[in-house]
Amino acid sequence: MQLVCKNLPGHSHYNDAGGKFVKKQKKWYDYLWIVSATYLILGFFNILFAWLGLICFFIPLGIALVKGKKSYCNRYCGRGQLFELLGGKFGLSRNKPVPNFLKQKWFRYAFLTFFMVMFGNMLFATYLVFANTSSLREVVTLLWTFRLPWHFAAASTASVAPWVAQFAFGFYSVMLTSTVLGLITMMLFKPRSWCVYCPMGTMTQGICQLKNGKS
Ligand code: SF4
Repeated sequence: MQLVCKNLPGHSHYNDAGGKFVKKQKKWYDYLWIVSATYLILGFFNILFAWLGLICFFIPLGIALVKGKKSYCNRYCGRGQLFELLGGKFGLSRNKPVPNFLKQKWFRYAFLTFFMVMFGNMLFATYLVFANTSSLREVVTLLWTFRLPWHFAAASTASVAPWVAQFAFGFYSVMLTSTVLGLITMMLFKPRSWCVYCPMGTMTQGICQLKNGKS
């Protein structure tokens, strides 16, 4: 029998039958935290890169819908890896148990609903710019409340339609907000506490349960 002590994504140490500790070979997907970190940094230089974040929406949903599995969360999510790295290896987490209410179904689905309403709000703001009833706002809204001037990353937006830029500002706001929430709960509790109530995780879990006929 093998005992597995998981430290970092893909960085497990195996205590095999002979009692030896052997490093598990890292796979390419163990480095996806670099992609997540790069994405966040690029948003400070060119807001249009925010569009790439849609990949993190469609791939997990696609895998859950087609295969009925949460492989994205278990293997390919760079954001989860990033929290594990910062909270684990870099010791930025207090490593305390996650409060019970965060794990409750009612909370996870309430947070998902809130998140989707705010997402719809962001899409509506994009539509208003598309319909010429509102002008482009070069701001990133953090935690759905704080409007941060973000004109320094807007140089390239002159070459695209204003609604394309508006969506980028809105979507980057969503990504930055979820990262900040994830970092706060990472510091307060376990490194991957965000995964307990992450809307994408809740959605894919719900889809997998429906697909696999579980309640
Ligand atoms: S729950 Fe969210 S953050 Fe965690 S691994 Fe899944 S998609 Fe990534």
